[in-house]
Amino acid sequence: MTDHSLIRPEVAALPDYNAGLALERFRSVYGIDAVAKLDSNESPLGPSPAAVQAIREAAAGVGRYPDASDEALRRAIGLANGVEPEAVILGNGSEDLIGAIYRAVLRPGDRVVTICPSFGLHEFGALACGALVDKVSFPEDWEFPVDGLIAALRQPARVLIFSSPSNPAGPAVTQGDFARLLNAVPKRTLVVFDEAYREYLAPGVVFDALALLRDWGGPWLSLRTFSKAYGLAGARVGYGICADAALAKALRKTRNPFAINALAATSALAALQDDGHLARVVALTLSERARVADALAAKGYELAPSHGNFLFFRTPASAAELAEALRRKGVLIKAWQEEPFLDWARVTISSPSENDAFLAALPAKAAASSCRSAG
Ligand SMILES: *Cc1c(COP(=O)(O)O)cnc(C)c1O
Repeated sequence: MTDHSLIRPEVAALPDYNAGLALERFRSVYGIDAVAKLDSNESPLGPSPAAVQAIREAAAGVGRYPDASDEALRRAIGLANGVEPEAVILGNGSEDLIGAIYRAVLRPGDRVVTICPSFGLHEFGALACGALVDKVSFPEDWEFPVDGLIAALRQPARVLIFSSPSNPAGPAVTQGDFARLLNAVPKRTLVVFDEAYREYLAPGVVFDALALLRDWGGPWLSLRTFSKAYGLAGARVGYGICADAALAKALRKTRNPFAINALAATSALAALQDDGHLARVVALTLSERARVADALAAKGYELAPSHGNFLFFRTPASAAELAEALRRKGVLIKAWQEEPFLDWARVTISSPSENDAFLAALPAKAAASSCRSAG
C-alpha cells in the first residue's frame, strides 16, 4: 500500500495534468463518435504522407534500439535552422524537454517566472522540483505582458519560460518587446522561449528569436515541436535549440537516453523535408481561424487575438459546463482550469467541417459575465 508519506510533498500537491481526451477514450466514456476534436491543437491534415510512409518502412526494424545520439534528426534540424547539431537536443515531445530542463537547473526554492494563462507543463514540472512559480497575467487588452515580466525579473529567477504564440491565449510577443525583455533579463537566468506554434506566425510577425537570444548572451533555449503544425502529436518528437553545446549536453543527462523512438525519429525527419504539406496546413489554419473568429464574435463571444492554431474565448458561465454540453454533442474543446480564467475556453482551429460542427453546437452568448474582473 502506498503510504502518503512516501510521495514527496511537492509531487503529492500537484494537480493532475488536464490533457485532452483521446478519441477512443471519448467514444468509450460518451458512447458517441466525436464529430470535432478541438481540444489538443492537433492538425486537421495530420502528418505528411511521407512521414507515414517512413514509419511503415522502419516498422520492421523496431527490434533494435534507436540511435541514442539522435544524429540524423539533429543534423537535419541544425541545417534547417542554421545552428550546430551539437546545440540541438531532442525530446519525447517538447514537454519531455521542459522536465529535463527543470531537472537540470532547478534547486528547491528557486524562482521560475512565467505568464498567465499559461501552458500547464511550464508550471507543473517546476513545482515538482520544489521551485516557486511566479505568474504574470496578461492585461485585459491581451498585450503581451512584457512590462510585468520585466518587473518580476527584478527579483532573482533561475528560469524565465513562456510560449509565443502563447498557449492558450494566442498573442505573440513582438520583436521589439522581445528585445526589450531580454535586455532586462539577468545573464544568470535561463530563458526558455517555447515556440510550439512558431509555424503559424504570419510573415510580418515572425522574427529570428535565435539571433536576439544569441545577442543577449545569457543561457537560453528555443523549444519547438513536431506535434502541432507538423501533425505528429502521437509520435512524440520535440526539440530544443540551445545557446551552446554545453547546455544541450546537460539536458542529455536529465532526459531519458532513448527518448526518441526509431519510428518517431524517422517520421520527423520525413516531415521536416515536406515543406508543401506544412504550407497547406498553415494556409488552411489561418483562413479558418479568421472565419471562426468572425463567427464567434458574431455570436457575441469575447476573444483573445490569436497567432496560433486555436482561439481563446470567454464563456457565459463556467467553461467546464460549456465544454461538457459540447462533448455531449460530440464536440471537444478545452475548458481552461487556471484562475482567473475559469470562464474561458480554448478551441483548436481544424478543418472547415469540424469548425462548422463546433459553431453549430455552440449557443449564442446570452449576457456578459465578469468572472475575470471579479477574480
Ligand atoms: C503543445 C505544446 C507543447 C508541446 O508539445 P509536445 O507534444 O510535448 O511536443 C509545448 N509547449 C506548448 C506551449 C504547447 O502548446
